[in-house]
Amino acid sequence: MAKNNHYAQEAKRRPIPKCPKCGNKAVERETRYGKRNMCCDLWSWDRHPLVDAETHAARNEAHKTFDALWRGTSMKRSDAYRMLAEEMNLAPEQCHMKLMDADTAHRVPVAVQAIKDRAND
Ligand SMILES: [Zn+2]
Repeated sequence: MAKNNHYAQEAKRRPIPKCPKCGNKAVERETRYGKRNMCCDLWSWDRHPLVDAETHAARNEAHKTFDALWRGTSMKRSDAYRMLAEEMNLAPEQCHMKLMDADTAHRVPVAVQAIKDRAND
C-alpha cells in the first residue's frame, strides 16, 4: 500500500520519541498499522510525540466529526481544513488532529458545527 509506505518512510526519519512522563525513550513495536511507540500509559504512531488515552480519544472524535463535514460533499478536504483552522483560530500548519492536545481536539466538533450552521444560513 503506497500510503502506508509513505508514512513508514516519514516515520523512519524521526527519532524515537521520549516519554514526557519519565523521560525514557519510548518502546517501539512494528505492527501492521505501522510503528507504535509506548511508555507510561502513553502511546503514539510512527514516532509522533506520545500522548495519553484521553488525547487519542479526543483526536479520534475530532477526526470523525471533521470527516463528516466534507466527505460525500463537493467540499475538498484541504478547504475543510482551511475553514476549520479559521474557525478555531489556528495557523493552518497547526490545524491537524495529530498535533492537537486534548483541549484543542475537543473544540473541533464545536467548530465543525459552527461551520455547518453557517453553510445552512
Ligand atoms: Zn515513560
